[in-house]
Amino acid sequence: MKIDIVGGGISGFASAISLKENNKKIHVNIYEKNKEIGYNYEGKKCGEAHSIEKEWSKWIPEKKSYYNVIKNAIVRTDNKLFQFQDEITKNSFILNRPEFICQLSKKAEQLGVNIFSNNKIKEKNQLNGDYIIDASGCPSIFKIKYRLNRGIKGIGYQQTISNSNNFINDTIKIQYTNELGYYWIFPRDPIKKEINVGYGLYNINKIKSDNINLKKKLETFKLENSINGTIQYEIGGMIPMGLQYPLKYKNILFVGDAGVGCFPFQGQGIYRALLSGDLAGKCIAKNRFYKYPYYAKKMFIKWDIIGKSFLFLCDKLCNLNKNLVNTSWNLMINRIPKSLH
Ligand SMILES: Cc1cc2nc3c(=O)[nH]c(=O)nc-3n(C[C@H](O)[C@H](O)[C@H](O)COP(=O)(O)OP(=O)(O)OC[C@H]3O[C@@H](n4cnc5c(N)ncnc54)[C@H](O)[C@@H]3O)c2cc1C
Repeated sequence: MKIDIVGGGISGFASAISLKENNKKIHVNIYEKNKEIGYNYEGKKCGEAHSIEKEWSKWIPEKKSYYNVIKNAIVRTDNKLFQFQDEITKNSFILNRPEFICQLSKKAEQLGVNIFSNNKIKEKNQLNGDYIIDASGCPSIFKIKYRLNRGIKGIGYQQTISNSNNFINDTIKIQYTNELGYYWIFPRDPIKKEINVGYGLYNINKIKSDNINLKKKLETFKLENSINGTIQYEIGGMIPMGLQYPLKYKNILFVGDAGVGCFPFQGQGIYRALLSGDLAGKCIAKNRFYKYPYYAKKMFIKWDIIGKSFLFLCDKLCNLNKNLVNTSWNLMINRIPKSLH
């Protein structure tokens, strides 16, 4: 059996590793459009906070693949402050994401996966595998091609800033806003006193309807919070909020941002990219290709329903009274960090 994987990011490599671990005989090819694995635009496109659950020891980043272990989370709304410590943030890291992707790609290579970088897939007929795993991110190449691009999309914009007065090596800060968005400050490289500071909006359509400029918003946030330092690079991208149906089309399975999207409250997609890639690999290797949508849905549906209903409700409340949105956030926040599915 031969499998083609489109996208050499986290979900692509998780799929490849899982395929080989579950059936050594499967021939696996990964196609990545960039010249270098990990060290490209997509490799940087992330706040890089990553939580794993204990049983997932398989994906723990090696020393080189993370900058910091997160011990504290300071979460705010416009009228309340929450502090979470060790017990909730256990097994949470700020990844060195390009290095983490390289860690996965090395493991895949050792297992015999063929990696073709500088290889952009534009058409299905460039591939001849029995099955295809679409791990091309959001928006997914095949979903655009076949006009399957459903699911709620958010958007994020982020700056990486060095020599910042806001660097605290073990603490992440998140601030939810009543226009259904969130700011984050994450500590990166301790030597450079580097942080990622960003702004995400849950509903991409709001940008147009409310004329929102993410960069301006972030600059105002930085001023209000006296965040200084030198901008190294800025980056943005779509954040698929929760499951992005369909999860299967013809002989293609959709994983990571192309399929299961991000956790609907905090835009965390790394863990879901790993879980869904692992699941897709397992399903194919065990001749259960058709079961992937069922298992993936089972894995992620709970927070999807809660998340999407919550966002829908808040969207309505937003138009009535913005304080009600803060109240809803305050009720929800205590429950969020305990599960990242
Ligand atoms: C601003 C921002 C901040 C974020 N912060 C966090 C965070 O702090 N924590 C967290 O968990 N998640 C975060 N996320 C989400 C996270 O980045 C994604 O969920 C995760 O990267 C999904 O991984 P993936 O492998 O599915 O897709 P991607 O990382 O998008 O990888 C897709 C890969 O496919 C390749 N590719 C695309 N098209 C083709 C093609 N046609 N041919 C060949 N190759 C192709 C790309 O080059 C890329 O390497 C953030 C996202 C954004 C936009």
